[in-house]
Amino acid sequence: MIPAPFTYQRASSVDEALNLAAEGGDDAKFLAGGHSLLPLMKLRLAVPEVLVDIGRVSELRYIREDGGHIAVGALTSHDEMARSGLLAAELPLLAHAAGQVGDPQVRHRGTIGGSLAHADPAADLPAVILALDATLIARGPSGSREITAGEFFRGLFESALQPGELLTEIRIPRPQQAGWSFQKFTKRAIDWAIVGVAVQGGSVALVNMGPTPLRAGAVERALASGAGPRDAAAHAAAESAAPEDINASCGYREHLSRVLVARALEEARSRA
Ligand code: FAD
Repeated sequence: MIPAPFTYQRASSVDEALNLAAEGGDDAKFLAGGHSLLPLMKLRLAVPEVLVDIGRVSELRYIREDGGHIAVGALTSHDEMARSGLLAAELPLLAHAAGQVGDPQVRHRGTIGGSLAHADPAADLPAVILALDATLIARGPSGSREITAGEFFRGLFESALQPGELLTEIRIPRPQQAGWSFQKFTKRAIDWAIVGVAVQGGSVALVNMGPTPLRAGAVERALASGAGPRDAAAHAAAESAAPEDINASCGYREHLSRVLVARALEEARSRA
């Protein structure tokens, strides 16, 4: 439970963070809320030689309207999103799901950027930003680039970010179709989802049904061709690769996904 030795450096701006990470090379890692990285370091599943603390880079902490979309800075905490009036009005799915992450301590320290960069398929927000068709902005030594949510999650704990690249902003278009729902099945209130579902209009994304968050394409196609919630939900597991672990078998997760997608679609319909 004691991490391997590392060098700690604190950045006060995005530019400084990028410079420090570049100096640290491939063994440098950004530290945001620390609620995923520090447990991994204590178990020595992560052994970065340099930690670049971005926790006080205030220019990355905001939620604002920006033309046709809502922009969320990468360092915005789950709690700030859960309490945001702008998100409650414009993107209630994100505000609500952020309020379901862990417990109050986790929500005060954990950040949206850390949650997305960590790319845990059991995490809540990756599926939410997938359902919302968000675009992620990453900055590296050679400038900024945009990555769609669909291209961002590459594999288990693997994102499209390159070493030394900093996730700076999440841009979320105003949803074209109203009606949303977030369903999360857990053993205890503070747990990660055994299975979760995020719905915005006709977009459906799944938590913990594969090595990455997944769009439930077969459900979306069924909805688009006129199927009702229950009939569409029957396809929930069609394109998934649900894991088998101490919490649930693959078959149980597939069953849960059908039940939760039906509930989510019905709730979304009642809110549309
Ligand atoms: P950190 O731990 O600081 O970093 C995580 C990873 O992202 C590291 O690799 C780091 O280098 C990288 N990183 C961080 N920020 C950036 C950035 N801006 N650009 C590039 N890379 C970056 N999550 C859920 O979704 N649902 C839950 O129910 C849930 N329950 C939890 C319960 C507990 C007890 C704990 C400890 C955590 C839980 N979490 C849950 C995870 C929590 O949401 C984490 O806070 C989050 O996943 C990581 O955010 P962080 O800011 O703490 O990132």
